[in-house]
Amino acid sequence: MRALLLLMLPALQPTQLGMPRDEPGPKMCLCPEAVQRHVWCEVHNVGLLAGVKITSPLLFEVLDAHGHQADPNFIPCAACRKHYDTGGFCPDCRIGYVNHLAYMSPLTYHLALGKHTDPAILDCAACRANASSYGWCDRCRRGMAGNVAYTDNAEFNIAIVEFKRLLVAIEKMPTCDGCSVAIMCDGQCWYCKKQYRDTRDVPKEATPDSDR
Ligand SMILES: [Zn+2]
Ligand SMILES: [Zn+2]
Ligand SMILES: [Zn+2]
Ligand SMILES: [Zn+2]
Repeated sequence: MRALLLLMLPALQPTQLGMPRDEPGPKMCLCPEAVQRHVWCEVHNVGLLAGVKITSPLLFEVLDAHGHQADPNFIPCAACRKHYDTGGFCPDCRIGYVNHLAYMSPLTYHLALGKHTDPAILDCAACRANASSYGWCDRCRRGMAGNVAYTDNAEFNIAIVEFKRLLVAIEKMPTCDGCSVAIMCDGQCWYCKKQYRDTRDVPKEATPDSDR
């Protein structure tokens, strides 16, 4: 898995990582571009993922929203090589593939299967309202997870599980951004050592591995 990450190209740019740039010069507000893509705005110090504001550079960096080019000859996992061609998610590696690009989490993979849509151009008030959080509109047969639109109801229902997880992580961000990261990856906060599973803080004894 680590080896695979190292083979992913191109190298991440500091701006994509949400890190401040060293060189001086006028910064540009990238917030308006959030209707087309996930973006970090250096002027407002905010990341926009599916149009949802993320003020923690750490969380935004870890979410690693954009697709990575990968050379299928160097992908060590057979399931991943297949998904690289056909599209799909490998649960073992936790990497998904859309249009020959690799996405490093279930959230970013499922968001890549939807379509960035400017809520202002939606002609349905219910869909516009859904874009401010999430929801499915039966009349338009359109689901919105933030500003990412879905026409496939089944895909939408899978995507919002991960999207809701993001909203929980964002709520946690002001308290501890390590916890917000741990919520996204079902992991442990490296600051307060809390362990998370399905967005909940679980005592170590309650994990299935240590049941008996
Ligand atoms: Zn901005
Ligand atoms: Zn794999
Ligand atoms: Zn609608
Ligand atoms: Zn924490």
